[in-house]
Amino acid sequence: MKLNNKILLPDASEWERYRNDFPILKKRINGYPLVYLDNAATSQKPRQVIQTIVDYYETLNANVHRGVHTLSQISTDAFEQARIKAQAFINAESHREIIFTKGTSNAINLVAYSFSRAFLSPGDEVLVSALEHHSNIVPWQIVTKERGAHLRILPMNEKGELLIGQFSNLISDKTKIIAISHVSNSLGTVNPISELTRIARQHGIPVLIDGAQAVPHLKVDVQALDCDFYCFSGHKMLGPTGIGILFGKEEWLNKMPPFEGGGEMIQSVNYNDSTYNELPFKFEAGTPHIEGALGLATAIDYLLHIGMDSIHQREMFLYKLALNRLSDLPGFKLVGSASDKSPVLSFLIDGLHPYDVGVLLDKQGVAVRTGHHCTQPVMDFMQIPGTIRASFSFYNNEDDVLQLEAALKKAIQILS
Ligand code: PLP
Repeated sequence: MKLNNKILLPDASEWERYRNDFPILKKRINGYPLVYLDNAATSQKPRQVIQTIVDYYETLNANVHRGVHTLSQISTDAFEQARIKAQAFINAESHREIIFTKGTSNAINLVAYSFSRAFLSPGDEVLVSALEHHSNIVPWQIVTKERGAHLRILPMNEKGELLIGQFSNLISDKTKIIAISHVSNSLGTVNPISELTRIARQHGIPVLIDGAQAVPHLKVDVQALDCDFYCFSGHKMLGPTGIGILFGKEEWLNKMPPFEGGGEMIQSVNYNDSTYNELPFKFEAGTPHIEGALGLATAIDYLLHIGMDSIHQREMFLYKLALNRLSDLPGFKLVGSASDKSPVLSFLIDGLHPYDVGVLLDKQGVAVRTGHHCTQPVMDFMQIPGTIRASFSFYNNEDDVLQLEAALKKAIQILS
């Protein structure tokens, strides 16, 4: 460990030890060591998370919240402990504000459908930003169309920064909710959320934050951000797929109707009517993804053991190293140069299609994502078909960056 800006940073051998916790990173792809740089799509899983899932099925498996039997009680306790872990991780005030979902998309859909049923009328507006993933556009598009309401868009500049100066002008008494990403998945921009929520608060408008790309890389404190809803996915932060979190302030969740009906979310049912369960269960219909929640709790423990500040510094070091090594390659063009960035390196090579570059990188063991990254409006604004995206995690290392550089050089040679 060494002290840097008062953060105790793990040294190279400790990072290698963390890396060794990820069995898949030992894999070879097309005869090369795997260089996994598609972390923004999904992260890899440490053996601790994998073991949690195995242990669950070998020692704990029972349905939660319904059995009088001991195993069900143990399983319920573990599931509810996972909720409390997620609550502490983002510093929510109460466990009632933590709803287990399938992931970020599911969490945003939950809010879009439920909120719009209660609060959206013809002529109303929902404000999103020009940087959003389709998951934070399409649900709002569907519900605004259904209710005769409209979508408004906060624009960005060529660097991929939101034009915050225009934010206040876009807000009116028709604006019912604002939905904005914390970090852009395609450009890596970190948006100034506290500034946005401060302005929204002056107008009394609730704010939903899509935190899918923030939570794996930054310390997130929903009380400090002062947002009303915050959504994230387990699978992007070392956890399993199919589990995610919706944080919602009780004040809003209490006023919103259930999203889905079924077991668990009710208090009583007859053929005329039903009454609903208390928070958070009102929004959790059916048997939940129990082992997913337990795996997510282990992932949170793992991240916290390293420390979010150390993770952030490590990832930005790798990002800057890669930017440095690649920027002199012929035709290299960075896409997204906001002043506040996360470790997402989106780029193009002049004259080459991103897909062709991606295929040649894969042939050399380097996994990147190419295309529009579920942000077609961002690509349209930039007037490009897509980008090549290398996204970093703390378990990447300097050799990964060098292998990316060598593979890209070769791809350029072959394709030029
Ligand atoms: N929002 C952002 C910014 C994302 O990057 C993603 C996934 O890439 C999502 C939402 C959707 O996440 P999920 O597919 O886990 O629902």
